[in-house]
Amino acid sequence: AEELMIRSEKLSIAGQLAAGIAHEIRNPITAIKGFVQLMKSGIVEKKMYLDIMASEIERIEMILSELLILAKPQIFQTERKDIRKLLAQVTTLLDTHAIINNVQIITEFDPEIPLILCDENQLKQVCINFIKNSIEAMPKGGNIVIQLKSKNENPNHILLRFIDQGCGIPEHILSKLGEPFYTTKETGTGLGFMVSKRIIENHNGEIAVFSEENKGTTIEISLPITH
Ligand code: ADP
Ligand code: MG
Repeated sequence: AEELMIRSEKLSIAGQLAAGIAHEIRNPITAIKGFVQLMKSGIVEKKMYLDIMASEIERIEMILSELLILAKPQIFQTERKDIRKLLAQVTTLLDTHAIINNVQIITEFDPEIPLILCDENQLKQVCINFIKNSIEAMPKGGNIVIQLKSKNENPNHILLRFIDQGCGIPEHILSKLGEPFYTTKETGTGLGFMVSKRIIENHNGEIAVFSEENKGTTIEISLPITH
């Protein structure tokens, strides 16, 4: 019965998404089609159009790669993992990207963090999404603090926080977070938050967002520990 419920839930999400996906992918494809026609007519300078086409194709790829993560719960595979190690790998991966953007990633981990049952790759994806959002929220640079806390109000959970000093999220956007394709960025997909929230829910975790405009944003994730 549980399996059935998960499946019907997935189907309804697929339904919600279908219209959005069709729309988001049709736009760049329409553009590419138009440029192909222009180029066939031979009246235009090719190089410029090839650049635009390449960037439109890149956009389709970005949308598809984020959507593929949504398909992955089908092969949701959990193991007991040390989340500190997972975070260390993620920060190593993103360090150069952060440095280029004048951002410093600071980690504050409690000394004893219990293991958690998780799909490592999916949880990494979540961390990458939130760190990238924080970097993008600080165009002039700043700090991102990643906190891991084992002792909190809920003794069966650990807390993971991503704290940035970025532009913050205004009220009207906060309520839209998690809606597919909602983005304020020129090259954003508006899928990162939704996919991340979904993954956290698959881990029986919870996510909360605290934000103040021009001050920064804190993403707080709680995840159940294994016994
Ligand atoms: P994308 O990053 O592709 O725009 P997301 O789903 O990751 O899509 O985020 C949706 C929107 O939420 C962003 O466009 C941005 O406006 C806002 N947002 C998310 N994280 C932050 C953050 N740390 N600081 C400020 N705004 C944020
Ligand atoms: Mg994002």
